[in-house]
Amino acid sequence: MLTNLQARDVATVLHPYSNLATLPRQGSLILERGEGVFVYDVDGKPYLEGMAGLWCNALGHGREELVEVAAEQMRKLPFAHLFTGKSHDPAIALAEKLKELSPMPAAKVFFCNSGSEANDTQVKLVWYVNNALGRPAKKKIISRIKGYHGVTVASASLTGLPNNHIDFDLPIAGVRHAACPHHYRFGRPDESEEEFATRLAAELDAQIEAEGPETVAAFIAEPVMGAGGVIVPPETYYPKIQAVLEKHDVILIADEVITGFGRLGEWFGSTAMKMKPDTVSIAKALSSSYVPIAGVIIPDWIDDALSCQSEKIGVFGHGFTYSGHPVAAAVALRTLEIYERENVLGHVNGLIPQFQRRLKALGGHPLVGEARGVGLVGAVEAVADKATRRGFDPKAGVAAKIVAFAQEEGLIVRAIGDAVAICPPLVITAAELDLLFDRLETALDRADHWAG
Ligand code: PLP
Repeated sequence: MLTNLQARDVATVLHPYSNLATLPRQGSLILERGEGVFVYDVDGKPYLEGMAGLWCNALGHGREELVEVAAEQMRKLPFAHLFTGKSHDPAIALAEKLKELSPMPAAKVFFCNSGSEANDTQVKLVWYVNNALGRPAKKKIISRIKGYHGVTVASASLTGLPNNHIDFDLPIAGVRHAACPHHYRFGRPDESEEEFATRLAAELDAQIEAEGPETVAAFIAEPVMGAGGVIVPPETYYPKIQAVLEKHDVILIADEVITGFGRLGEWFGSTAMKMKPDTVSIAKALSSSYVPIAGVIIPDWIDDALSCQSEKIGVFGHGFTYSGHPVAAAVALRTLEIYERENVLGHVNGLIPQFQRRLKALGGHPLVGEARGVGLVGAVEAVADKATRRGFDPKAGVAAKIVAFAQEEGLIVRAIGDAVAICPPLVITAAELDLLFDRLETALDRADHWAG
C-alpha cells in the first residue's frame, strides 16, 4: 500500500533508471534530509548512504560551508556565462585549480553540467580536432563492454550496457566496444590476470587493425568501471592497452566521473591505475554533488587545434548555458579546498585497508562468488554456485533482494546485475564503515536464507 506521497510520486515523476512497470507497485523510498553519511526518509528512519548517492556525495551531507558559499555567490552574481567573450572569477579560479590537480599536462578546462555532457563533449572534440588536423577519416571511438559513460546520445553509445542501447536505436555510427577487463567473468580457465591483460591488449590491437588505424581516434575508459559492476582491471591492463593505443596513434580519454577526487586514494584514478590519459572527464565529487558541475580537461595540442580551427571557421560552436555556472563553480572550488584542508585523501588512504579487508572477507560468504574493489569502491557478486561461478536466474532478482534487505537494515547500496555495489562518502569514519559492512553482511545472510 503506497503512502500519499509515494502515490503522488509514481503518478507524476518519470523516474530515471527504474523499472517503470514495478515501481508503481513498490513505491519509491522518499528521502527528506541528510546529515553526514546518513540520509533520513520522510518517517525519520536513518539510512547509512553506502553509495554516496550515485557515487558522488564525497563529503556527505550538511556541509554548511558549501551552503554558505552558494548563497554568497547567488547574492553577488547568481548567473553569468562564458559565451561570446564573457567570464567570471569562480570559473577562472576553478579552471586554474583543476589545471594544477590534473593527472595529465593540462591546457584548459571546458565546463559542463553532467558526466554525460562531459563525454558528449569528448566525442565532439575528437571529431572536430581530427577535422582540424586534416585527418577526417580518424573518427571512431572505442569504449568497452560494461563501460558506463552516461545516457545522452553519444555518451549512451559509448556506454557498453544493453539497457542503454536496446530500443533507443543506439549506439550511433562510429562507436565500437572492446572486451571488458573482468578476469573473474571473462578470464579463461587457468589464465592468470597478467595473461588475461596480455590477451585483451592483443585483441584490441587486432580490433584496431581490422577497423583500420587511420579510422580509429580514441579509446575511452573509466580507470575502474563503476556502473558496469565495479570492475577492477588487472594491474598490467592499462600499460598494455596504452602501448597498443600509442602504436596506432589513438588517444586515451579517462572517464574520471566516479574516480576523480580521491575515490582510489589519489586525486585521480588514472594515477592509481597507471593510465596516462590525453584528456579527462570529471563530474560528481568535483562539487561533492552539492550542485551539478562537470568538465573536460584538455591538453595543449587540442587547445591549439581548436584555436586554429577558429582562425579558419570562426566561432567554436559548442557550449552550454550553464557551462561554468558561477554558483556551481564557487561550490566546486570550495569543495576542492575542503579536500585539501581536511586532508580527505589522507583520510581515504587510512580507511582503504579496513574497507578492503571487510570487503574481501565477504568473499567467504556462501552467496558471494567474488568480492572485488579498489580504494573506497567495491562490489560483491552473488552466485548460485561458488565452484562453477554459475549466476542466478536473472528473474530471481537476487541482488535486488540483497539491496531490499539492506534497506530494511538501514543501509543504501545498489544492485547491478547480480552484483551489489558499495561506494561510501569519502569522509565516512572507521566506525561507520564497520556499521556499513555489518549491515551488508546481515542483508547477505537474509538473502542467502531467502534463496534457500
Ligand atoms: N561517466 C561515468 C563513469 C559515470 O559513472 C557516470 C554516471 O554515473 C557518467 C559518466 C554520467 O554522468 P551523469 O549521470 O552526470 O550524466
